[in-house]
Amino acid sequence: MDDRASPFTGGLSYVQPTPTSPWGTFLAQVERATPYLGKLAHRADTLRRPKRTLIVDIPIELDNGEIAHFEGFRAQHSFARGPGKGGVRFHPGVTLEEVMALAGWMTIKNAAVNLPFGGAKGGVRIDPKTLSRKELERVTRRYTSEIGAIIGPQQDIPAPDVNTDAQIMAWMMDTYAMNTGLASTGVVTGKPVYLGGSLGRVKATGRGVFVMGCDAMRRLNMPLEGARIAIQGFGNVGSTAAELFAGAGALVVAVQDSRGATTRAKGLPVADLLAHSQNGDDAASFPGGEAIDREAFWDVACDVLIPAALEGQLTAARAGRIKARLVLEGANGPTLPEADDVLASRGIVVVPDVICNAGGVTVSYFEWVQDFASYYWTEDEINERLARIVLDAQNHVWATSEKLKTSLRTAAFVVACERVLVAHVERGLYP
Ligand code: NAD
Repeated sequence: MDDRASPFTGGLSYVQPTPTSPWGTFLAQVERATPYLGKLAHRADTLRRPKRTLIVDIPIELDNGEIAHFEGFRAQHSFARGPGKGGVRFHPGVTLEEVMALAGWMTIKNAAVNLPFGGAKGGVRIDPKTLSRKELERVTRRYTSEIGAIIGPQQDIPAPDVNTDAQIMAWMMDTYAMNTGLASTGVVTGKPVYLGGSLGRVKATGRGVFVMGCDAMRRLNMPLEGARIAIQGFGNVGSTAAELFAGAGALVVAVQDSRGATTRAKGLPVADLLAHSQNGDDAASFPGGEAIDREAFWDVACDVLIPAALEGQLTAARAGRIKARLVLEGANGPTLPEADDVLASRGIVVVPDVICNAGGVTVSYFEWVQDFASYYWTEDEINERLARIVLDAQNHVWATSEKLKTSLRTAAFVVACERVLVAHVERGLYP
């Protein structure tokens, strides 16, 4: 069997993707789009391998004087349309394969939304909750130094992802500045506002999910007022989407986090749940809701489901149980390909990650532009331009899906793959 016949071999010796692993999911999604690429289809092999991957050792001194080693990664999937762009994740489950898939999804996302970036992603295999603040800073600085040769404002620009935030970005920027002697604020995005960060960046991904969700509901004739929303993951993306939907009259009827789940048919008090969660308490112990088994979250009666945690969560079995009519992918890669088929057969519409959560990278793009210009926009300008860019992408992808009679995900991949592969053709093959 050659590489094309089996998307799961990928032709690479250093990863063994499966139909349910992140890189296997990414390859299957590229495979589904390939028949619609016409003359560009024979070039799609370039999407099945990252441009560059880097694995680094991160030794740090712990507070007790011992030395611990952690694995760090940066995968650069494509630079065809511009410098690499994508977050950095700190999580005990991070692997090279996961980071490669996340980098691939960034290539597709940046192209689907038409931002002048390629795709990249990084991560450290670590549980940040077990580290002190000083230890976390040492991990961040050493990781940044180790990947320093391949990142930069014109090369590859990291940003926050799971368990990383503006403080981590400030340490990354400072380390890069110390190592290069350059005050390159544009080397990372998602920085604190007083260090060249952009207004509106913290909430941009959740805001994008909300904007896309309202537009999708309008198209499907689903009223926003009183709509029942279930959200998996109550971090940056999930909690912001919850706040915005609740503020617009929808009811957040269930929330699941990494430790448990809570439900309330009349709507959870989102501000109280957020304060509870920011205090380090899990969803199940929230006094304003009824604790349910984590698996029971998938059976809750709702109109809209927002996966906003990790990849691979919406399996075929769960897809057969969910009650929602609409899935808004806040997370990257939350739905397995076979779950996509189940959802399609049940008439459930999925607004795919590569456009649905693109609000974050869109405002990262604004931040990068503002840093180069050293001229900063108002929050209203940011939010208005964010909505315009993601809704343009939504219009284009829905029209493509109607024209090709495909899912929105395959349509988004077709739009994006065409843009990336045309860039390849126009640039030519070096040397
Ligand atoms: P976060 O660290 O702020 O929050 C993650 C949340 O997911 C937490 O509530 C955590 O408890 C929950 N979680 C983790 N594992 C879980 C599990 N197995 N089951 C249920 N819940 C679980 O992270 P975030 O920045 O909100 O990112 C969430 C997702 O959104 C990720 O897939 C990320 O790649 C994607 N995303 C983030 C951004 C961004 O700007 N932060 C942009 C685009 C996409």
